[in-house]
Amino acid sequence: MADFDVDLFVIGAGSGGTRAARIASSHGARVMIAEEDRIGGTCVIRGCVPKKLFVYASRFAEDFEDAAGFGWTLGTRPSFDWPTLRDAVANEVTRLSGLYRKGLEGAKVEIREERAVVEGPQSVRLAKSGQIVRARHILVATGGWPSFDPPIPGGELGISSNEVFHLPVLPKRMLVVGGGYIALEFASLFARLGVAVTLLHRGDNILRGFDEDIRTRLRDALAHAGITFRLGCTIERIEELADGTRRAHCPSGTPIDADVILVATGRRPNTKGLGLEQAGVELGPLGEIVVDAATASSVPSIHAVGDVTNRVNLTPVAIREGHSFADSIFGSKRWIVDHATIASAVFTTPEVGTVGLSEGQAMAAGHDVRIFESGFRPMKATISGRQERIYMKLVVDVKTDRVLGVHILGHDAGEIVQAVGIAVTMGATKADFDRTVALHPSAAEELVTMRTPRAG
Ligand code: FAD
Repeated sequence: MADFDVDLFVIGAGSGGTRAARIASSHGARVMIAEEDRIGGTCVIRGCVPKKLFVYASRFAEDFEDAAGFGWTLGTRPSFDWPTLRDAVANEVTRLSGLYRKGLEGAKVEIREERAVVEGPQSVRLAKSGQIVRARHILVATGGWPSFDPPIPGGELGISSNEVFHLPVLPKRMLVVGGGYIALEFASLFARLGVAVTLLHRGDNILRGFDEDIRTRLRDALAHAGITFRLGCTIERIEELADGTRRAHCPSGTPIDADVILVATGRRPNTKGLGLEQAGVELGPLGEIVVDAATASSVPSIHAVGDVTNRVNLTPVAIREGHSFADSIFGSKRWIVDHATIASAVFTTPEVGTVGLSEGQAMAAGHDVRIFESGFRPMKATISGRQERIYMKLVVDVKTDRVLGVHILGHDAGEIVQAVGIAVTMGATKADFDRTVALHPSAAEELVTMRTPRAG
């Protein structure tokens, strides 16, 4: 041990890296962490947190309208000020980043605020200072970065989700490129903030990998909320007009003019120039670090967690992987993360909450399935007069009666699915759902009162 400066060097102080550093330190390891940007990583600085705060802001518009049906009169017509929101969110991000720093300092983790690269299986070079740190173990937790796939002429005229949080003014027209959850969340929230949003996606439907009924219903709901969809379309070039308008050209259909083009076509693992290949670390086709279930790379002293491994790219997964790594290598308990049943949400309005297998995935896995579904108007929408519906779907295995998947579209879907995810993770059967007494009046009670399977 004396040959090493530290027991663990963590590259990247995001969700996975900070958790691993703190836990390893609590097990007695000497830990150093390097961060080239702001402490906290994607989720805190330019991902989940600022995004969700924007989503909250976007939902007030409906609340003001709905309040009228319940007898409220608002003195003046509500108006929205973008700089107020943007700056309040930026301040909150700074506060959270400070808390992450305090957490690391409190755990006695040495922080280096500069880029670090792998120099060899057990050494790291700090790029600015040139310092070489000898580490018994290296954890790569460098996350991912937005990519414009494939690169196109004028692509630099678009922005990524990194920049969208800092727009100097709220655009009047926005083109969002992409059909994944990040594209949809921004399309939804900006549309509700009053921006004319067009969403362009090369696939013929949004949210690939999600349950088909959710995909179609969400697309219809977002179209109803004012988003214009251009599906089955790719951009071949972007040009800037004299007045600053960005014009996106597609092989078919008219060009699309916008003040801002947000490109959310995917993210790539952050491994470029990290020195991994030279150290013998195997990378996958997208540059992801190939790891085993215990997060070890092809080099035994180098592990990787989170988005850089491109498995399930979500914050709680990165955190859990970091925790399991630290416990397993420096603690007394070895454990691995089960990636099988992970609840997730799409914070569009309406929201998506999902856990377990979609109907298509269940069938592809060989299950004979029974589908229970319910679509209804939430109680709040009756008096407000809002044309809103909630959709819920249970995918049940006929042979075992086990609930394989729960899919919800509607208000609070994420909150509901987090709780019902416990039941699905525990292997609950449809009979378990049925014997659960409903909580009335609630939307979630529908999950335990569906009795008739879908025909056919
Ligand atoms: P990160 O949190 O990205 O941390 C990696 C860190 O490494 C970064 O701070 C980076 O600066 C640093 N770094 C990189 N290279 C180096 C280097 N060479 N030297 C030093 N430092 C380096 N997930 C959810 O669960 N829920 C959501 O609602 C959600 N919303 C999202 C919204 C957006 C717009 C985006 C982009 C992502 C969202 N995610 C969400 C995904 C989530 O943010 C990531 O899954 C999570 O942050 C991954 O954590 P990580 O530790 O792997 O990497």
